[in-house]
Amino acid sequence: MMRSMLLWLSRNKQVRQLMMNWGVARRAARRFVAGETIDDALAAIRELNAQGITATLDHLGENVETREDAVRATDDYLKVLDAIGQAGLTSHVSIKLTALGLDLGDDICRENVARILAKAKDVGTRVRIDMESTEYTDRTLAIYRRLRAEYDNVGIVIQSYLYRSEADIAALCEEGAHVRLCKGAYKEPPTLAFPKKADVDANYVRLMKMLLSAPARAKGTRAALATHDPKMIDAARQFAEAEMVPRDEFEFQMLHGIRRDLQQQLVADGYAVRVYVPYGTEWYPYFMRRLAERPANVWFIVSNFFKK
Ligand SMILES: Cc1cc2nc3c(=O)[nH]c(=O)nc-3n(C[C@H](O)[C@H](O)[C@H](O)COP(=O)(O)OP(=O)(O)OC[C@H]3O[C@@H](n4cnc5c(N)ncnc54)[C@H](O)[C@@H]3O)c2cc1C
Repeated sequence: MMRSMLLWLSRNKQVRQLMMNWGVARRAARRFVAGETIDDALAAIRELNAQGITATLDHLGENVETREDAVRATDDYLKVLDAIGQAGLTSHVSIKLTALGLDLGDDICRENVARILAKAKDVGTRVRIDMESTEYTDRTLAIYRRLRAEYDNVGIVIQSYLYRSEADIAALCEEGAHVRLCKGAYKEPPTLAFPKKADVDANYVRLMKMLLSAPARAKGTRAALATHDPKMIDAARQFAEAEMVPRDEFEFQMLHGIRRDLQQQLVADGYAVRVYVPYGTEWYPYFMRRLAERPANVWFIVSNFFKK
């Protein structure tokens, strides 16, 4: 119930305005967001790199409504890619297609993403296309595939809560794709997504094994296992060990501000770890999805409120 309410609120424009002007919420969001400026983001990446952790940078924003906003978001990514290159930091970027004009049309969006991919190539880094709600899954995969034909530095995300994902992973393994596997963060109906967490988790393990299988890796498939769930991580470690998957052929990914202990433990155990670092002023929907994942986080805001 709480999860559904928080996810509904994440899309509500009036509540968004109220929350964004509320100092307590802004401060609470800082637990999950590196800051509002490029410099804040670069400082967070520098700190991660110093601990042997790589990053993927997300300039927060989604569902832009004008071409100008989509171009502005694209230009922000070009600037941040230049900054990553100049600072010599080890970071990819993660993008959301609705921030780059997907609601305005596939062509506009694809042109913007192509500019980001070309710049990332110049800087010697990669771009991951985040997966948003099911309203966008087919178009996101289609745009990914069109761009993958021209750029080898683009990857995609698949969510284990969707029934369709097994078929999507099978196809992507054949194509030798770079795939981030996550559980999924949006509100989806039971006709499209497993309603029970146990089924989402079982599917995560099934899809992880497909991505790490020897035939998939031989085709160039690379898995980024995005989860903070120790059960998923243990299952992946055991499978990778049993199948002798080289440690440089997959990585674990986690979100900024969540389970830093686990991030450091994995690095100490010799695994590659990448942290997703969001920054910018459009933190509201991202923050609400983090609350929905763990409603106990709401108490974190409430306790902050009483501290004030
Ligand atoms: C690097 C990365 C990229 C992602 N990209 C996408 C994407 O493109 N599309 C998409 O739909 N989703 C994305 N997600 C979110 C993902 O789908 C899940 O919603 C999120 O990771 C929580 O699932 P979990 O695997 O951590 O497992 P869960 O079973 O939800 O959580 C396991 C444990 O992790 C900890 N934990 C999890 N979430 C939180 C939190 N918010 N605050 C505090 N502790 C927490 C808790 O200890 C919890 O018990 C991404 C996640 C990561 C890590």
